[in-house]
Amino acid sequence: MVSVSKLQLLSKLSDGTVEDFKPTVSDEGEVAYPETEDLLAHQDGTSIEALDALAGRGFLHKEYTTKVYICPSCQADGLQYITACPFCEDTHTIRTSFFEHEQCGFTAQSEDFEIGDHTETQQCPDCEKEIDSSNITIMQKQLCKGCGESFDHPSHRLWCLDCFYLSEPEKATEQTLYEYELTEKGENWHEAQVGTRELLADEFASRGFDVTLDAALQNDEDGDELYKVHIHATDELLNQRIVADIHSAVDSEKIKHISTVGKLFHAQPLLLATDESISDDVLQIANQHGVTMLWVDQSGSIRRYESIDDEYRPAGNIIDRLSSAVGFTSTKGD
Ligand SMILES: [Zn+2]
Ligand SMILES: [Zn+2]
Ligand SMILES: [Zn+2]
Repeated sequence: MVSVSKLQLLSKLSDGTVEDFKPTVSDEGEVAYPETEDLLAHQDGTSIEALDALAGRGFLHKEYTTKVYICPSCQADGLQYITACPFCEDTHTIRTSFFEHEQCGFTAQSEDFEIGDHTETQQCPDCEKEIDSSNITIMQKQLCKGCGESFDHPSHRLWCLDCFYLSEPEKATEQTLYEYELTEKGENWHEAQVGTRELLADEFASRGFDVTLDAALQNDEDGDELYKVHIHATDELLNQRIVADIHSAVDSEKIKHISTVGKLFHAQPLLLATDESISDDVLQIANQHGVTMLWVDQSGSIRRYESIDDEYRPAGNIIDRLSSAVGFTSTKGD
């Protein structure tokens, strides 16, 4: 399904307004695509759902970029790796030399042994036995400057540069980021859709309608909700209104959408199917919802599907058919 909004997403890439859709992380720690947000209607779902749907149809290429980690405390991204003391969580730990007295096992920083100056004899600070370089093992250990504990392996932590919270890596939320760019298939499809839309818009315009493409209609009665349609055509003089959507394939969802918008705005609902021919079942549903189904023939002319009850009649000129579709005249009866 490609809604008005999704077509506009493709337009934005196609006309070069943006090169591709790049992710950001919102204040809530969610992946967002700011370039898409003003275009999407409620029924399109989230940006990611809309973009994934277009990628699923091969219109967009979804490219992995990187992963980010979200602070469990303040939801900021950009956590930094840092090591910390496993005893007190202080991050001020250093790697330093330790001496171990082999006989008693006492271990301490080298300065506690005071070895290396030229005094004759040295004692182990613990067992007080004589020591020299032959019975001392030198090793590298971590020392915590906060609590003074020493250890072999520090803890792995992620440090939030925004709120300074220190979290275990598993507690941070991992977000995988993708970019979306237009594919050749998407470009071609978009061109065809826009072409068909303009064809239909021109048809209305030539008949004196005021035509708005990608209209967002607002109903006074239900507040802020916007209803998007590919074409909104009005003739104030004749008090005629048309709402039309163009889809490659038509299903009952699309029929219901345009039918609902038609009812809300007292407009004749039309649907133009570009790719697939319409099954009797779909035509039946369209009939039930009072939606007129259109298609484009080989010569590029817009035609109307006859009602399911009628036998399809290829005769009759397009203008008559469209007149009928928009309710000017009737072609009923032979
Ligand atoms: Zn934070
Ligand atoms: Zn000792
Ligand atoms: Zn410590």
